[in-house]
Amino acid sequence: MRATDEKRQNPEYFSPVYEMALKQFNRAAEKLELDPNLIERIKTPDRCLVVSLPVLMDDGKVRTFHGYRVQHNDALGPGKGGIRYHPNVNLGEVAALAMWMTWKGGLMGIPLGGAKGGVACDPKKLSEHELERLTRRYTHAISPLIGPEIDVPAPDVGTNAQTMAWIMDTYCMQTGFHTTGVVTGKPPIMGGSLGREEATGMGVVFTIQEAAKKINLSIEGATVAVQGFGNVGYQSARILQQKGAKVVAVSNSMGGVYNKNGLRVQALRKYAEGNRDLANFPGAEKITNQELLALECDILIPAALENQVTRENADKVKCKIYAEGANGPTTPDADEILTNKGIFMIPDILCNSGGVVVSYFEWVQDLQNFFWEVDEINRRMENIIKRAFLDTCDLEIQRKVGMRTAALMLGVKRVAEGMRVRGLYP
Ligand code: NAD
Repeated sequence: MRATDEKRQNPEYFSPVYEMALKQFNRAAEKLELDPNLIERIKTPDRCLVVSLPVLMDDGKVRTFHGYRVQHNDALGPGKGGIRYHPNVNLGEVAALAMWMTWKGGLMGIPLGGAKGGVACDPKKLSEHELERLTRRYTHAISPLIGPEIDVPAPDVGTNAQTMAWIMDTYCMQTGFHTTGVVTGKPPIMGGSLGREEATGMGVVFTIQEAAKKINLSIEGATVAVQGFGNVGYQSARILQQKGAKVVAVSNSMGGVYNKNGLRVQALRKYAEGNRDLANFPGAEKITNQELLALECDILIPAALENQVTRENADKVKCKIYAEGANGPTTPDADEILTNKGIFMIPDILCNSGGVVVSYFEWVQDLQNFFWEVDEINRRMENIIKRAFLDTCDLEIQRKVGMRTAALMLGVKRVAEGMRVRGLYP
């Protein structure tokens, strides 16, 4: 179906990001020669919930926010996907992110489906109390749709372990049961998994190490630029620096910094915690986000938001390995440009899957009330991600479709097989 027809049929969740996710899916479906009876079913979200959230602000006024939860597909297991707090959150973005979660779970071979949620708000402009009230009201509003056997949220942009603890507490208060498995990414004292905080960044680094082997690049001394300095960007930069790489540039929504001799990643993180502009960090030059993306470096990690590398700037990208820490940072036009430039692309559903893999482990630990050592968690995650990386490379070599389509083909195929075996209800 053409994009214009899709838009006419599904105007509620149609958005540039959703269109991008559909284009990627359509290409994978075509290469897989997917059963036409399945195509419409598999790409359409199972459920979309839109909620309004009146919240008492500290100044005594009531402000109403808009929240979303989309369950894209549960053929392989309960929904799984983060909750985003950002001013640009809308139903289309959440639906696209939920779809990517479905393919990611399929690619990783874990028994979870795809979901996502979010609230349109700027968490930086809300006090701790306002954030807590908003989170509790949002949890109440989506509570008919969540639960360990239904849909299990996790952190994403603008949310963290504290947000997950509030969600868990609200859910437990409402149900009367101590249900740790309702969310992942919680603090360890609340049934959170060891290793979850750094899991996505660690997974990004595992995939970069594998890609580096393929192109004979040594991580020791390799130059790295990271766009987005939140959970994923910071952890990826920190772990790469630990392994001997030189992190020459990082940025956040306000801009970034550059030092050709390498930046002190942990000191920068401390500096950024006070919501300070990175540009004033001592011993580094100011750099814009666009300049960062165009830097000459060995490894570039977009770890912020969607739509960062587009037809307009893709030609300026000069890295050897392009590792998508973020979901959807690259438009389909840009993909083609990067591939033609011979850049080794590690697509989002493969690159940033460490988060969902360790979330899966957290869910399993919560269901058993039995907790694992961090070494075991990291070893199991590494095995799953490396296998997915090698499978993707093998398929890419066989079919010459590019790493993104190869990864999507593996993910979509597994979900399609699950749906075929389950059959059509009723
Ligand atoms: P976060 O909120 O911790 O950090 C986001 C960072 O991006 C912040 O530093 C913010 O200032 C920066 N940013 C925002 N807009 C920007 C812009 N236009 N240019 C440059 N920087 C900008 O979020 P996160 O959890 O690190 O998530 C980042 C990305 O990784 C998202 O795409 C998310 O969906 C994806 N992801 C996150 C996880 C996870 O476990 N947290 C897992 C998989 C994928």
